[in-house]
Amino acid sequence: MARIAYVDQDACISCNLCADTLPDVFRMNDAGLAEVYDPRGASEEAIQETMDACPVACIHWKS
Ligand code: SF4
Repeated sequence: MARIAYVDQDACISCNLCADTLPDVFRMNDAGLAEVYDPRGASEEAIQETMDACPVACIHWKS
C-alpha cells in the first residue's frame, strides 16, 4: 500500500518549497502552513525528494 505523507505544521516555516516543487501534492493553507491535500499527486520517490529538501525536515510518512 502506498505510503501517505503529512506535514508537521508545528515545525513548518512556510518556505513554500514543497508547494512550489510538488503543487499536486502540497499546498499552503490559509494560515500559511503547508499541508498535503493529495497524497497520491506524485510518486513516492518525488515526495521523498521533497521531504529531503524541506529545510526543517517536517514532512513525514505516516506510520
Ligand atoms: S518545505 Fe517544509 S518548511 Fe517549507 S513549506 Fe514545505 S513543509 Fe513547510
